[in-house]
Amino acid sequence: MQATPDTTPALIDRFGRRVDYVRLSVTDRCDFRCVYCMSENMQFLPRAQVLTLEELYQIAAAFTALGVKRIRLTGGEPLVRKNVLSLVRMLGELDIELSLTTNGSQLPVMANDLKAAGVSRLNISLDSLDAERFHDLTRTGKLVQVLHGIEAAKQAGFERIKLNAVILKNRNDDEILSLVDFAREQGLDISFIEEMPLGVISEHSRAEAYCSSDEVKAAIEQQYTLQSTVERTGGPSKYYRMPDSNSRIGFISPHSHNFCGDCNRVRVTVEGRLLLCLGNEHSVDLRDLLRQHPGDQAILQQAIIDAMDLKPERHHFELDEDPQIIRFMNMTGG
Ligand code: SAM
Ligand code: SF4
Repeated sequence: MQATPDTTPALIDRFGRRVDYVRLSVTDRCDFRCVYCMSENMQFLPRAQVLTLEELYQIAAAFTALGVKRIRLTGGEPLVRKNVLSLVRMLGELDIELSLTTNGSQLPVMANDLKAAGVSRLNISLDSLDAERFHDLTRTGKLVQVLHGIEAAKQAGFERIKLNAVILKNRNDDEILSLVDFAREQGLDISFIEEMPLGVISEHSRAEAYCSSDEVKAAIEQQYTLQSTVERTGGPSKYYRMPDSNSRIGFISPHSHNFCGDCNRVRVTVEGRLLLCLGNEHSVDLRDLLRQHPGDQAILQQAIIDAMDLKPERHHFELDEDPQIIRFMNMTGG
């Protein structure tokens, strides 16, 4: 008997990697100014350059039609985008896993609505449990608000909430174990992220602040036994478990352990630039296309299919050289 051909659409790049995950940035703005992400006086985009909520939806729908199964909303801070909930409700109707990365500041008021609108997973950034230091690292953030946000997310029924922590030498590297303890107590997962050189920030030296995943792991192992697992949550995190806890510990190591070989993702900036790689500038302007051919899904989908040929094999991050990437993380969609 002849096998039925698989007609499920798929986005495959030149290296045979299947792209089934999109990170969609819904704003470049943020209520925080984290030292590694933004400079103190950021210039944000004028409104005309930013995709409308309808355009963001059109892009998400095109990716979904091409076999993408997971979309993560990010930014900037996605929850400061005006009317973001109406977009989330529209996306919640698509046949995808919808997740969101947030600094947590708006969760006290929005967690329930996000859950009801169809967000299934939340990542919440948390780099310090010391209020003063939290304020120093985020320049504007209030720790208590984020802790309330985490509690609101738990109460709303989100499962497997993951904390994201960027560890910087001499800023918060003495808090690695406290952050792990907090995740254990709260029943959360936690991923430690190596800082990436995106954008030039004059008042912050990335080379001096760099703390490798191996250093973070060694600090945790002074207290806990880490058992390697093959679990993946669709992202670049390598996960470990502790024998006496349900919390997972992940490491996202763009410098020390290159994860490009099984990269399954692309990003769309809030200007509608389809970025094929976090660490390269290869991109396609989807906004131009959307505005020239409003509502034409066929043209949009073809542009996305064609863009797969531009996805580079790997990124090259060098800490001591001038960054090749001048976009800030809030523009990239972290
Ligand atoms: N505002 C949201 C938040 O902070 O979670 C979402 C956007 S933020 C750009 C996404 C993630 O990127 C955060 O966990 C943040 O810590 C991380 N991030 C920002 N700049 C970074 C950099 N230069 N290197 C590594 N991670 C970075
Ligand atoms: Fe805002 Fe997130 Fe960047 Fe911090 S990491 S400045 S919270 S976008």
